[in-house]
Amino acid sequence: MKNPKTSNLQNAGSQNESAGPTAPQSLYLCYFDAEGSAIRQSFGCTGTQSHENDPGGIISDCLRHAIGRLNEHSRNMAVINSNEPESSVEMVEYKGIKRSYLVDRFPLLKMPEGGMLLSIRDVSAIFSVAGTDTSKDSGIGAGADPAADVFFVIDNKGDLTFLSPSVEMLTGYPVNELIGNPAIGISDPKAVETIASLKSAFSILIGKTGLSAADLRPLHYKLAFTRKDGAQRWVEISASPFTNASGEFHGIHGMIRDITDRKVKQDQIKTTLEHERELSEGKSRYISTVSHEFRTPLSIIYSNLQLLEKYRFELDQETIHDAFELSRMAVKSLLRLLDKVTIIDASGKGKLDFKPSEVKLGVICRKIVDEVNELEFVPDRIVLSIEDEDSVVWIDENLFRHIFINLLQNALNYSEKKQKVTFTIKQDTSGFVTFVVADQGIGIPEQDRQFIFEPFYRAGNSRQFKGSGLGLAVVNECLSLHKGRIFLDSEPGQGSTFTVILPIDINE
Ligand code: ADP
Repeated sequence: MKNPKTSNLQNAGSQNESAGPTAPQSLYLCYFDAEGSAIRQSFGCTGTQSHENDPGGIISDCLRHAIGRLNEHSRNMAVINSNEPESSVEMVEYKGIKRSYLVDRFPLLKMPEGGMLLSIRDVSAIFSVAGTDTSKDSGIGAGADPAADVFFVIDNKGDLTFLSPSVEMLTGYPVNELIGNPAIGISDPKAVETIASLKSAFSILIGKTGLSAADLRPLHYKLAFTRKDGAQRWVEISASPFTNASGEFHGIHGMIRDITDRKVKQDQIKTTLEHERELSEGKSRYISTVSHEFRTPLSIIYSNLQLLEKYRFELDQETIHDAFELSRMAVKSLLRLLDKVTIIDASGKGKLDFKPSEVKLGVICRKIVDEVNELEFVPDRIVLSIEDEDSVVWIDENLFRHIFINLLQNALNYSEKKQKVTFTIKQDTSGFVTFVVADQGIGIPEQDRQFIFEPFYRAGNSRQFKGSGLGLAVVNECLSLHKGRIFLDSEPGQGSTFTVILPIDINE
């Protein structure tokens, strides 16, 4: 728009058409110079217009009609250069449609040439058309407007020269305080970044000659600020640059709208969507890990079956025994994996059975060590030491088994076959039993330690070892039902020590 004088109110309609029909909340902003010429106008500043709300464009037509009528008065006011802002609600009837408009006229006293900013908003949804008081003294002005949009004008030196009084309602700060320090209440780093980008867009315009329509299009920014009373709010700023009569950049006018409620709703929807995405990602991670872990033992069973089927008459007894033994171990490992999956699933649904009973420490711990030995190629690597074999604990035997089978299997898995693993059990006088599982294996890097109890998480140094990332999650679930705690001490390359502390009687 090189010559803004030609963009008078007659072609406002075509500009509006290109922007789409104007819906009830839409806004018309116009800046008049001191001679009453419309220097710059913009429609639907917040971009809230929607086609669905205005079938046939009749509301847009009504607004255009209202603009034609209401601009005339504003032009005169700009020439008279009144010092007082003026607000009124006007009812306009066009082709049988009645709509209410909130009209705000703000004299631009600080602009060297004077002038006026006019805003027209469709408030039909707020003020019932039939009951609207259309008198100019109705007292419904910017201050009483429930939407409390704030208008502003920045001159071509970058100084804020006008802020509508409704800014006090929005921010808690009076106009004069903000004119001197517009960034009051803005400390959020993202908001500061937004303002910096606004400023740089602005300086580009200052240096530019021959501004085009693209330079003058309205820009929309969202930013967070803190109200004077400490409340956090979100606003959308819509800013339109405008030119003087010779087409030179002359400043920016725009509107600030409180969008906190909308933002809160959007954030809630975003959180729900993110949660759903995480769930679906978790599901696919689950399927790929579990199916991978199933494949290895199944292929061991399959290849041994093939071997036995093809060569059963040629193989010696020892090879046949090994083939059966390998298949048996593969089946056991499949069952262990199924156990883990079932426990994680049941605990996620809050359906993990917890049936505690009195159990002798010595008996249960020896049983667990035997069970783990049976699952391993190299047995007898576990060195068990129990201070008092006969002491009795109140535990769910099945879940207790899962805790220590997982810890012991990990200790064996992540260390060399020639290295021992110690399993030490001590009882103290304050009603707790301490179980320590220690190995001299690969250790756990510090950055992974806080995540290893989450399902499917595997430390960076364990990729070449078999594992599903489910064992410690199972330990965690079983421990929490026992009101127990677990501590980890680990040094990469030196080994890991898991210490579990359980109350002797969880009922105490
Ligand atoms: P996995 O089946 O992969 O062993 P876990 O949930 O039992 O799953 O363990 C999670 C991860 O924690 C393992 O993948 C491994 O990176 C690490 N980890 C657990 N125990 C040990 C250990 N004793 N030594 C080294 N790393 C371990």
